[in-house]
Amino acid sequence: MDDFIILGAGVAGLTAARELLRQGQRVTLIEKGREVGGLARTFEREGFRFDLGGHRFHSNNPSVVRWLHELVGEDLLRVPRVSHIKLNGRFVTYPIAFPNAFTAFSPLQATQLAASYALAHLTERRRPDHSFEDWIIKRFGSLMYQHFFQPYTEKVWGVPGRELAAEWAAARIGLPNLWQAVRHTLRPSAIPPATAIDQFYYPRYGFGTIPQALARDIVARGGQILTEATPICVQPGRNGFELFGTTPAGSFRLQGRELISTIPLDHLLGLLPQNGSTYPLHYRGLLCLFLAIQRPQISGDSWTYFPEPSLLFGRTHEPKNWSPAMVPDDSHTSLCVEIFASPGDPVWSWPDEQIRRQVVAQLGQMGWLAAAEVRHAWVVRLRHAYPRYDVGYRAHLTQVHDFLHQWPWLHLVGRTGSFRYLNSDGVVEDVFRFLAHRFPQTAVSIQPMPQQNGRWA
Ligand SMILES: Cc1cc2nc3c(=O)[nH]c(=O)nc-3n(C[C@H](O)[C@H](O)[C@H](O)COP(=O)(O)OP(=O)(O)OC[C@H]3O[C@@H](n4cnc5c(N)ncnc54)[C@H](O)[C@@H]3O)c2cc1C
Repeated sequence: MDDFIILGAGVAGLTAARELLRQGQRVTLIEKGREVGGLARTFEREGFRFDLGGHRFHSNNPSVVRWLHELVGEDLLRVPRVSHIKLNGRFVTYPIAFPNAFTAFSPLQATQLAASYALAHLTERRRPDHSFEDWIIKRFGSLMYQHFFQPYTEKVWGVPGRELAAEWAAARIGLPNLWQAVRHTLRPSAIPPATAIDQFYYPRYGFGTIPQALARDIVARGGQILTEATPICVQPGRNGFELFGTTPAGSFRLQGRELISTIPLDHLLGLLPQNGSTYPLHYRGLLCLFLAIQRPQISGDSWTYFPEPSLLFGRTHEPKNWSPAMVPDDSHTSLCVEIFASPGDPVWSWPDEQIRRQVVAQLGQMGWLAAAEVRHAWVVRLRHAYPRYDVGYRAHLTQVHDFLHQWPWLHLVGRTGSFRYLNSDGVVEDVFRFLAHRFPQTAVSIQPMPQQNGRWA
């Protein structure tokens, strides 16, 4: 019997497994995919390496940074962050800086935006903070909302801003949160938000180095990682539970005392008995188009953001700008093009070739590349890229927690598993928070920082 069985071998599952093994526990990891790493893995083909959407590592917690240094060693690079957002046809520095961002607009439009901002403080003060839209309009005015916040936010999440929780606007969110950036510009704080950092850590051979290093250590410590393993059901027993599943080699049955789930909540609920209810919690998907390009460089950016609805994609990054080892040689570069979409959206089921053609045509119109320069293209679909904070999601999440509490041996950890918008550093802290709670008598090497806005235990 295992002491712990862990579902999912992303950063959360791997970090938990490693620390539990260090504490002398017996651990088995069950991973559905062929490789470990989850959202944080690095895709490698023909000498090109791509993260699934560029992953930078940043933490304000020194013990997390130390943890990273110990894990990755001398292959950890320090990379300057240079990002732009395309607003009104112009590339403006991102995070958005005011009044610089107004230069994307005519003097008349800029005046109207500023007036709308000022007016909101008189007319919108009593507006309730119900939705993302309410929250922004109350503080910035409707014109600022329409021009700066609404297009990119709705592109990322695929729903109107009035359906997203206001809490999301205030949360400590990385990629799609323009508000963080704006707020930091207007009122800089001692600890910059994740969106406002100007340097980050990055492993020379891609972010996937982190899960790979964790996995190696797990195996070296006697832990077991089953890949291509699909769990089918969990049966609670007297001293824990039994887990049944399949691999290409056949079916398996494992017994465990405690179960850590880092997999999507809907998957977990499907494994458990008595799950008659469905909970309206939604994950947002992502399509990554990877382009291998015969040209030394496209842009100097770490990330470029594209809010325009007419463009199929929402964000790009050029891996070579993060580490030269991400491309086979100096005459080549590459692009990771992110298309925000979920199953059911038309683009989700387009053939890969159609996605490639449309994106390359749009990049060509922007003058970024010529179709003949594209040597290879690959598409990866991620169904559970982001937990989406819809209006009312918190109550649904509480219902799920209440349902799961009947099994004290079951723990939710990480971003995907606990439906919290955490970056990988937050995931690592979350694992250590869990360990400190579960093994209060044992010293842990990472002291989690106080909970950030938007996080909860
Ligand atoms: C586009 C994008 C950009 C990002 N950029 C950054 C960044 O710059 N910096 C940063 O720190 N973080 C970033 N993140 C967040 C980071 O990827 C996550 O915080 C982290 O990888 C989450 O790890 P996890 O283990 O909680 O979840 P996951 O990585 O989702 O791991 C869950 C694992 O469970 C497996 N699984 C799923 N279903 C099952 C099942 N039924 N049975 C068994 N296994 C299953 C999955 O295959 C996966 O391996 C980004 C995320 C995205 C999507």
